[in-house]
Amino acid sequence: MSDELEIQIDENQDEEDIITSISVLPTELEKTLSQAINLTDDNILHEPTCLVCSSPYRTEIEDKWNETKNYADVKEILKGRSKAKISSEVIDNHMRFHYERGIKELQKREYVDKIKRYSTSELTTLDRIKFALSAITERIVEINAITPSGDYSAADIEKIKSSELTKLMTAYGKFTKMQSDLMEK
Ligand SMILES: [Zn+2]
Repeated sequence: MSDELEIQIDENQDEEDIITSISVLPTELEKTLSQAINLTDDNILHEPTCLVCSSPYRTEIEDKWNETKNYADVKEILKGRSKAKISSEVIDNHMRFHYERGIKELQKREYVDKIKRYSTSELTTLDRIKFALSAITERIVEINAITPSGDYSAADIEKIKSSELTKLMTAYGKFTKMQSDLMEK
């Protein structure tokens, strides 16, 4: 998750270097985008403030909930296996917002894949940068909207928010720099 965009375009680069930089953009762009919309390597949405999202038993928890819709059954999964105590409220919140949203994120992911397929000819680099910027902006809005849920202190939430935002702002800065460098050409 700490992967950094490696494209750097500075004023002293000659044109050939810039062309080389741009030719590596699609892969780097894809990586940055996945990060921006918070997908894990398996393309699953991960909300860093959620105990269910962070649990190694996440799939088991989701399957059990879909099967029985019973909080006690779900909590039983963690008994003796995990120190994390997951409240009914957290299960509820996860199933309502992260599980469903995970599906929506997958659709977004399909969109990214589609863009990749067309990337060589039909979309300009500027188009792709624009798309990346809007995905990052959307994510920033979402992160800002996180509120303490009772499982984390307000200070913890602030810490998580600020590290997520730093990551997003760094990516955003790199894309806007790339955008203005391209527009000056
Ligand atoms: Zn969750």
